[in-house]
Amino acid sequence: MYDYGQCDICNTLMTEVVIRQDFWIKNKLVVIENIPAGVCPQCGEKIVNADVGKQIARILKDKNRISKAPTIPVPIVHYEEKVMAF
Ligand SMILES: [Zn+2]
Repeated sequence: MYDYGQCDICNTLMTEVVIRQDFWIKNKLVVIENIPAGVCPQCGEKIVNADVGKQIARILKDKNRISKAPTIPVPIVHYEEKVMAF
């Protein structure tokens, strides 16, 4: 287990969890699942260690792997000043 130390923002001890994170690569949204990360139980700040960061960069450059990955539809909503209240 990696020691993530304390949160940079609120100094709470980080907890190791597995996260799902989204990345924008040239107008394309890519989601990576199963990333080992440190998460602050207090404020929600997320960090990954240097090795994990490098591996994420490698995965994001792997066009072949990305093109073969399953996709999910996501809603795209326009920002509006007046949102209808329900
Ligand atoms: Zn924190």
